[in-house]
Amino acid sequence: MAQTSGKEKEKDKEKPAKQSFAHCWKQNLRAWKMWFRQSPGFFASTLLSSACGALAPYVTIWLSARIISELSGGRDPQRLAFWAALTVGVTALLALANGALKRWMGYERSRLMAVRFKPLADKMLTLDYAEVDRQEVYDLYSQVSQNDNWQGFGLYQTLLIFPDFCKAAVQVAGGIGFTLTLFLTDLPAGSPLAFLNSPLALLAVLAAMVAAVAASSACGNKANLTMSQQASLSTFGNRIFGTFGFLAADTKRSADMRMYRQQENVCRPIMSDRDMLLFAPGGTLAKMSKGRIGLLMGLSQALSAVMTCAVYLFVCLKSWGGAFDVGLVTQYVGSATQLFGGISLLLQALGQVRANGSFLDATFRFLDLPNHMYQGTLTTEKRSDRNYLVEFRDVSFRYPGSDRWALRHVNVKFRIGSRLAVVGPNGSGKTTFIKLLCHLYDPTEGEILLNGIDIRKYRYQDYIGIFSVVFQDFRLLAMPLGENVAGAAEYDRDRAARCLADAGFETRLDAMPKGLDTSLYKDLDKDGVEISGGEAQKIAIARALYKDAPFIVLDEPTAALDPIAEAEIYARFDAIAGDKTAIYISHRLSSCKFCDEIAVFDQGAIVQTGSHDALVADAAGLYHKLWHAQAQYYTRS
Ligand code: ADP
Repeated sequence: MAQTSGKEKEKDKEKPAKQSFAHCWKQNLRAWKMWFRQSPGFFASTLLSSACGALAPYVTIWLSARIISELSGGRDPQRLAFWAALTVGVTALLALANGALKRWMGYERSRLMAVRFKPLADKMLTLDYAEVDRQEVYDLYSQVSQNDNWQGFGLYQTLLIFPDFCKAAVQVAGGIGFTLTLFLTDLPAGSPLAFLNSPLALLAVLAAMVAAVAASSACGNKANLTMSQQASLSTFGNRIFGTFGFLAADTKRSADMRMYRQQENVCRPIMSDRDMLLFAPGGTLAKMSKGRIGLLMGLSQALSAVMTCAVYLFVCLKSWGGAFDVGLVTQYVGSATQLFGGISLLLQALGQVRANGSFLDATFRFLDLPNHMYQGTLTTEKRSDRNYLVEFRDVSFRYPGSDRWALRHVNVKFRIGSRLAVVGPNGSGKTTFIKLLCHLYDPTEGEILLNGIDIRKYRYQDYIGIFSVVFQDFRLLAMPLGENVAGAAEYDRDRAARCLADAGFETRLDAMPKGLDTSLYKDLDKDGVEISGGEAQKIAIARALYKDAPFIVLDEPTAALDPIAEAEIYARFDAIAGDKTAIYISHRLSSCKFCDEIAVFDQGAIVQTGSHDALVADAAGLYHKLWHAQAQYYTRS
């Protein structure tokens, strides 16, 4: 916790930079354009549904006013019946249209919600691997997703703002149309209120009403802005909660949790620390709700009520003074309330655009992260002769942000169909070597060639298509076994079963309750099976075999296997690798004895190459030293 309680905590508490409204509006438009490309239907349905929803009250208000005017005036039964029937018919039709449009909008929204995180996920998957690995990128991604988790700030918020905008625009336009005559109809000359006819008096009344609406919205917006400015604190609070809130449910930690009473000693004190959690009882948010935010919200509501009173007063006074009949009182009060409601909604939506601006900045900063790796266009041609030759030519590599060389002047060629072992102590650069081979990183110096051409010039997907790798930290999915092996929902069942058998999983497969359809783990299926580390390793190997790529790489599976099991897997693998070029990585030399060529890594460099026998015979070499150290370890009783 030293890390999170010191400087970082202070950093996280920083308030987001204030942006100009024009900037926020530009960001909001960009988000709308992005969503529009994804779902034009959402925008069309929202526009129509909001327009219909906003217009409906005006139609009802206008028709009701006609009925009341008739009741207070001519009282003609036939005309009354006509207005009543029209009101019922039109209201019913509008309700039907409104319902249908709302359903359409709901459908489009659900479709959009299903791909709500797609822009972020797509970006994460297409970013250079080196970028994904960077702490700053992880922090930014985490900030963007926490903002969304907290109150939908960022891209999602723009989807909430759009319907408000449509509704407000139509409501304001309709309101102006229906209330225009309220201000233009003069009181009869001689009325004690005739002074209200003067343009100045009208302007003053109108200005007072607009000012009250604007002040009410400003208070509401200020409260929202104050809330949104807590986002960085909330991100930090969510991180704490995400890290410590669910430890008790993590079965892999159960033993540690009990042994060291971590729940009582670590989690609980952190989770109840008021400084850490925005949402804790008595925490920052609670204090603000009782203070500043509460006050602003209350003021906003009070001003809105004052404005409604003013509308009633003005309309009733004009009617009392003889400007119009009682039927129009209903129309004017109703439509003026709608008009000012619309103005308030518009200001509120603009306030949301403002409050969301800094969150969109973070989102677009993430989406705009550049890829620095050169994107080649050459295809690797699916050669039937599998005649692929890879060569490292004087390759050196430093991890981004590191000043230490992880690889230094590496020169090596893979002979087609051969078995190459990469051995060496921990931290000597073996995994880095494989990551460069798979073009997850570009070399800092030197070049890697495939059939004589720099691998950067190949189309990335084509290039990685020629490799099957079982990474040290591979991951399986909580999905059916067969789908894990094939990496697809539709697959060749015979081939998947054959690959599992080749990987030594045949007996276990026979014992699986639903064969290839048995789910791994219990996350999504109560009948799922738990598998051991060694079994998972075999499934991962079957997955690599199913891909049937010309190069196959096995990165030291030592975490899951004992030395004997590892040697067995390597020997079996050698048999099934067939005509493929196989690369084995291990720090256990005995596992790789059978290989045609062994490259010994030390401190990022290849210090020796040769066959096992030749290397053991070189008494001055590192391999000899390591071999005897390990042999001694296993032969001592
Ligand atoms: P090996 O596979 O032989 O155990 P690695 O290739 O994993 O060794 O590591 C080689 C060196 O590169 C080590 O010094 C290690 O600390 C460093 N290294 C590995 N991964 C990273 C990374 N993502 N960022 C910075 N340094 C790294």
